[in-house]
Amino acid sequence: MRYITTPIYYVNDVAHIGHAYTTIIADTFARFYRLKGHETYFLTGTDEHGQKIEQAAKLKNFTPKEYADEISAEFKKLWDEFDISYDKFIRTTDENHTLSVQKAFSKMFEKGDIYKGVYEGFYCVSCESYFTQTQLVNGCHCPDCGKKTELLKEESYFFKLSNYQDKILKWYKEQEPIIPKNKASELINFVEGGLKDLSITRTSFEWGVKLPKELNDDKHVVYVWLDALMNYISALGWGNDGQNMKFWPAHIHFVGKDILRFHAVYWPAFLMSLELPLPKFIAAHGWWTKDGEKMSKSKGNVISPKEVVDIFGLESFRYFLLREVPFGNDGDYSQKALITRINAELSNELGNLLNRIIGMSAKYSQNIIESKNVQEFFNEELKECQAYLQNAISFLENIQPNRYLEELFKALALANLSISKYEPWNLIKNNENAKANALVALCANILAKVSILLFAAMPKTSLKIAKALSFEISTLNYKKIIEENKLLNFKTQICEVLFPKIESKEENKQESKQQEQQTTNLAQIKIDDFKKIEIKVALVKECENIEGSEKLLKFKLELENGEIRQVLSGIAKFYKANELIGKQVCVITNLKKAKIFGHESQGMILSAEKNGKLTLISPESFIENGALIG
Ligand SMILES: [Zn+2]
Repeated sequence: MRYITTPIYYVNDVAHIGHAYTTIIADTFARFYRLKGHETYFLTGTDEHGQKIEQAAKLKNFTPKEYADEISAEFKKLWDEFDISYDKFIRTTDENHTLSVQKAFSKMFEKGDIYKGVYEGFYCVSCESYFTQTQLVNGCHCPDCGKKTELLKEESYFFKLSNYQDKILKWYKEQEPIIPKNKASELINFVEGGLKDLSITRTSFEWGVKLPKELNDDKHVVYVWLDALMNYISALGWGNDGQNMKFWPAHIHFVGKDILRFHAVYWPAFLMSLELPLPKFIAAHGWWTKDGEKMSKSKGNVISPKEVVDIFGLESFRYFLLREVPFGNDGDYSQKALITRINAELSNELGNLLNRIIGMSAKYSQNIIESKNVQEFFNEELKECQAYLQNAISFLENIQPNRYLEELFKALALANLSISKYEPWNLIKNNENAKANALVALCANILAKVSILLFAAMPKTSLKIAKALSFEISTLNYKKIIEENKLLNFKTQICEVLFPKIESKEENKQESKQQEQQTTNLAQIKIDDFKKIEIKVALVKECENIEGSEKLLKFKLELENGEIRQVLSGIAKFYKANELIGKQVCVITNLKKAKIFGHESQGMILSAEKNGKLTLISPESFIENGALIG
């Protein structure tokens, strides 16, 4: 059983890169365990109670519930768009959750872990919040708004956190649940410093879970942290039908480092009071900055995960987040770093390897790859690959996703290097066909093994590779080719380019609004400037798709006196190759020759494009081929 959770996200904010990061990491682990054959439950959701929500709703003239409904739905929509494989999306306003919180409160009360007392704290009237002395600025001022606070007393229920101090320390020492490990010492110091009993109700606002009826105390609502933490078990049916409690205890609670204390001190104490087992890992990640600066609304540099995904694709975004930062450290998001990873790793190592395998198998063995001779010729490489894969698994199990990806890419590099080292084209020339085919099979097996393990991080990419090599990403194959280290045979088929290289032009798309204006105000030119461009009418004699590209068509164009030119054009999404044969098009004929995808292009076919539509430019009536346009 593997139970994986994200924190529930507070509905006072829209989703930013930090939310996406936690959720994508948790999704990666859920996918990994599912594929490995564990029964897995993946929970995410929203935290919807508390004074801040009550206030924010008032400002918008909403009820707190209406307000929470709206923001919660936005989170859910984004995770659905990102194909997050959660099993349940919990909301703390769900009726079952409320019942579960009240049950927990009753149980702790009956046990003697909750008592009624007086809460004393420094109260900021304009923020309607209490602060402890240590939180205050300049002795007595509110850390949020800077106004002077007053020492106030309020009736409150308390949880006897002090009862659990020793047990929490024992848990840290025996089980080592805190990831990364260096965060544990801070917590140990904090707990050893002495735990004060925790105020777990409030009377200053209403938007929260009421106390259980039998306490007959309407004024109080349950403090948001007790309410929120309970989601991890209420989601499994604790205090209700209990139908998914078989998944408890959680395998990993993923949290941001700011809420580690709540999860590593209060939560285990609540669980012990409820006599439930404690989670296996609490894994705290760091923050993201943008180009070295902290993100904030006022700076206007907050990264919208949706915008990045719209431009660079979900799979690249997932890869970048998981790969860029050692888990637990702070990370920096920059478009440049993302593009470098796409070009150098996803395109050069991963996408390129698939292309090479497809190309070689088509040339040497009619798309059939047989693995019978791999061990004979390449046993060392197989062993090396297996070592990388074992490392990758062990890094992932120990919650170091960046190192897991690093190891997988070492395996890919091994395959790519083997091709340059053994030069299959020369093997074929020298009639060493068996060895050449074994080399292709080695590479295909490495790529297949990597794809199975990469599925957790980049599910869509792995499925595309599996389709191109005709094998299945499945638990059965996980056992067979990862655990038992078996080799597969393959039949290859053409596949779109997995990660087209990002050219500098596209790099700037995200910040291109200004540039767009500039291009519409192009400098004026003289007629002589225009005359430098030679445009002619040409007849399409042949037209075909280019292997490995979903964009490009290759044309043979006839100009005057039967001259034939080869021109490539990126219009395959708009036209089928065969429907263009026999048409006349307009082509720039004095453009410098270029090589695209290994094919030479001697010109450029003119077309018009707007709002995702494209049409070729043709003469209005037939005219002789080679006619000059001007
Ligand atoms: Zn204040």
